[in-house]
Amino acid sequence: MAEEVKYFEPFDPKTRGDELGNLAPYRQGRPHRGQDWAPKENSPIKAICNGTVGKVFWTDVLGNCLVHSSADGKYWVLYAHLAKPSELKKGDKVVGGQTVVGLVGGGKNTPSGSASTGAHLHMTIAKMGPKFSGVDAHLAPFEDLVDPLTLFGAAPKKTVAAKVASAVKKVVPTKKA
Ligand SMILES: [Zn+2]
Repeated sequence: MAEEVKYFEPFDPKTRGDELGNLAPYRQGRPHRGQDWAPKENSPIKAICNGTVGKVFWTDVLGNCLVHSSADGKYWVLYAHLAKPSELKKGDKVVGGQTVVGLVGGGKNTPSGSASTGAHLHMTIAKMGPKFSGVDAHLAPFEDLVDPLTLFGAAPKKTVAAKVASAVKKVVPTKKA
């Protein structure tokens, strides 16, 4: 039974990094698939909402990851570049703003995955079904991703679509053959 869910931004907004859809040159034309925050390495990361752990895993790109559902049945929430494997296991309940899902990694002293150039949390949020029903939020099609900032009552100034469109305009001329 779905419950009403409150969402908590995991870190101070001042630590926000690249946003969903970011097309900085180092992304080589692939829009950023989530939101970054860059607090101190090894800072504890608290779950952004109530939910249930779906998967704890490693990828060469994202390093140590954890995915949990949102208890309202709407989303899969992925936390990437954790400093070490989460102590939580599939099926564990998490409480928004309370349960520590892992520590911030991806910096000098922690394993990171190749997509990290400094300690930060990367978060991808994917809508649950009907197009994407898997737990692997990092594999969801871009159209099924949700801007995490919109869930914290802190919508970005420009819409993501507008940002991507303006970034694409800037990038296209340099891509002429
Ligand atoms: Zn990121």
